[in-house]
Amino acid sequence: MPDILGRVLCYLGLHDFVLTDATFGFGAPGGISKLRCRRCGKIKSKLM
Ligand SMILES: [Zn+2]
Repeated sequence: MPDILGRVLCYLGLHDFVLTDATFGFGAPGGISKLRCRRCGKIKSKLM
């Protein structure tokens, strides 16, 4: 994919997230997974 297109997609909020880390807290309902965009490096936390 051309870099410029990836940047446009990121700009539109369509990131290419990959799972980088998953933590499971004690006493918390479920866990939190960390997603990182391979193009712009944006980190997003997501409740599982
Ligand atoms: Zn991105």
